Amino acid sequence: MEARVYLADLRHNFSGVLGNECMPLGVSYLKAVMDRDLPEVESRLFAYPDRLLSALRSHPPDVLMLTNYMWNEWMSFHFAQKAKQLHPDMLVVMGGPNIALEPERQVAYFESHPEIDVYVLGEGDFLARDVVREYLDAGKSLRRLGEQKLESCLYRRSDGQIERTEMWERHKQIEEIPSPWLTGVLDEFFDGKLAPMLETNRGCPFQCTFCVQGVRWYTKVHNFTVERIREEIDYIGRRIRERCPNMTFLRLADSNFGTYARDVEIAGYIGEAQAKYGWPKLLDATTGKNRPERVIQALEKANGALIAYQAVQSVDELTIQNIKRQNISNKE
Ligand code: SF4
Repeated sequence: MEARVYLADLRHNFSGVLGNECMPLGVSYLKAVMDRDLPEVESRLFAYPDRLLSALRSHPPDVLMLTNYMWNEWMSFHFAQKAKQLHPDMLVVMGGPNIALEPERQVAYFESHPEIDVYVLGEGDFLARDVVREYLDAGKSLRRLGEQKLESCLYRRSDGQIERTEMWERHKQIEEIPSPWLTGVLDEFFDGKLAPMLETNRGCPFQCTFCVQGVRWYTKVHNFTVERIREEIDYIGRRIRERCPNMTFLRLADSNFGTYARDVEIAGYIGEAQAKYGWPKLLDATTGKNRPERVIQALEKANGALIAYQAVQSVDELTIQNIKRQNISNKE
């Protein structure tokens, strides 16, 4: 093993109630890519803060990568500080959408958190691997890493200056990410506490001004193949039955489930899993705004398990115009 990398998508635990009840899907993509492309790296996922803390003490990694969402931002900063206290030479990387879009605000944010060495901008599936690769090329030296050019990142140069490189365009072929389900990367999280989360596509054609996915960068919708999704649903169903049959929930990460014809097909595979494995009984997805008939078809295929939302942000017309929002229509 040339390096040990910890990937942490932490969540608060409020006396047993978790601040985020889903399996850590985002970081699992990062691990799936690293497992394939960097066999010399041993990586491990963390969802629970207490486990990360004890691993930082007993088996410190060379690299700690932390997610940044609005629900775990300060916990991630806390762990970044902790990691630096314990091992100042550790490379601490953060990534996630909870950062301003404007470059100058990004720099200011990064500047105010010296505990973070690198902030990865945009989708991290492949970028995380590239940062680890650069770090290995730099002989695991933070100073030498700062002399290299890191793409689509904020980082500190060896003279302490902050460098921001332009954000990459999105990687169109998300199929190139190995499935973290089918490779067993997420197996350890079938613990009865965390629910599986599945992403069938990524991106959103709408432009709501309050939402990170409303920017041009996310406009194109990239799909995982239906065949892969079908296999994943079956895999998850089998694991649920073996390990945590009381888990009834499935969350979909899609922005507009029920918009596309293939969503109805996918809902049919969810219906098949219900018949085979008794799961899921509840399917939570942000449903689409302009094809209600498809949402209803998907709901039927999933045997009523899908929660049908009425996608309405405001009923005030001027507000809707100003935020460039397209609600589901009143008639529908
Ligand atoms: S439709 Fe939803 S995901 Fe898409 S931009 Fe609007 S709020 Fe964001």
